[in-house]
Amino acid sequence: MVAATLPARYARWDGPGAPFRVVDADVPREPGPGEVLVAIDLATVCGSDLHTTRGRRSSPVPGVLGHEQVGHVVAAGEGTTVDPGDRVVWSVAASCGHCRRCARGIPQKCTDLLKYGHQPLDPAHPLTGGFATHCLLAPGTAVEVVPDAVPDVVAAPASCATATVAAVLDAAGPVGPGDRVLVTGAGMLGLTATAMAARAGAEVVVSDPHPERRAQAVAFGAAATCDGAPGGVVDVALELSGAAAAVRTCLDRLDVGGTLVLAGSVSPGPAVELDPERVVRGLHTVTGVHNYAPRHLAAAVEFLVGNHDRYPFASLVGGPYALDDIDAAFAAAGRPGAAPRQAVRP
Ligand SMILES: [Zn+2]
Ligand SMILES: [Zn+2]
Repeated sequence: MVAATLPARYARWDGPGAPFRVVDADVPREPGPGEVLVAIDLATVCGSDLHTTRGRRSSPVPGVLGHEQVGHVVAAGEGTTVDPGDRVVWSVAASCGHCRRCARGIPQKCTDLLKYGHQPLDPAHPLTGGFATHCLLAPGTAVEVVPDAVPDVVAAPASCATATVAAVLDAAGPVGPGDRVLVTGAGMLGLTATAMAARAGAEVVVSDPHPERRAQAVAFGAAATCDGAPGGVVDVALELSGAAAAVRTCLDRLDVGGTLVLAGSVSPGPAVELDPERVVRGLHTVTGVHNYAPRHLAAAVEFLVGNHDRYPFASLVGGPYALDDIDAAFAAAGRPGAAPRQAVRP
């Protein structure tokens, strides 16, 4: 007879400055209706995890962090679309599906949102984050099956970075051959956006102050790079750095009919002046993207399946570290010049 519970371990976070503690738990082996129990193969430390541990992003304490990961389904509850053994990634949040915002097509802003890696710890139900051996997916979570050909280190960031970039490209409107695209910030999001836009046929210029990041941008398909503002104008600007000066550059470089997508500004910063006449006469669109809808996770996985070996995505991830060494993973992630991601293999 199979036991009703299985042993799991999770990294408990006790607030900024405190080390992680790995805690043992017995969790129910049979998920409830709409739930999926996943064994995590690999998780990556996202920039927002780092913001959280440094006290720059408020998050419930104690908690289980982590929302970029890939794993295998252990058991799937009634009404789910996956089977035991499936290799999967899942959305950063679970949505109710019927509130006003879900009905308006922005389930990522559901009024009853459960965010993985961002929930208060309930010791009876601790499996809500990626830095653990298992995660229990709640009803309303988007789940995508990932073929084995996509390496763990490439698949894990799909849940946050890659899907967010898919949402950014979606917000930019169709991007294709002949379009001039400016990407500001060549971190995980910027490099991914560069690859997606280049793959769509656009001519991509990447702006980043760090020479080694500009060199990486070329490997991800950038036609040109610059430090600061590029020469000429662009049809699409994707702001992924969060720097006010970069927002300014994007606004100033938009050609007539241009679209600016802001997605990097996820913490408070100085206001940036907008010239309304320039927006009006230029037929400009300025839009914000935060997280993503389920279709963007599907687009992210599709992109990685088709392009994981075309661009050096695997080189963006350091580690892996064991769950017991998660403090070292966070320390490495916070070092200047570090790879955009560090992996934890529980
Ligand atoms: Zn993230
Ligand atoms: Zn909702």
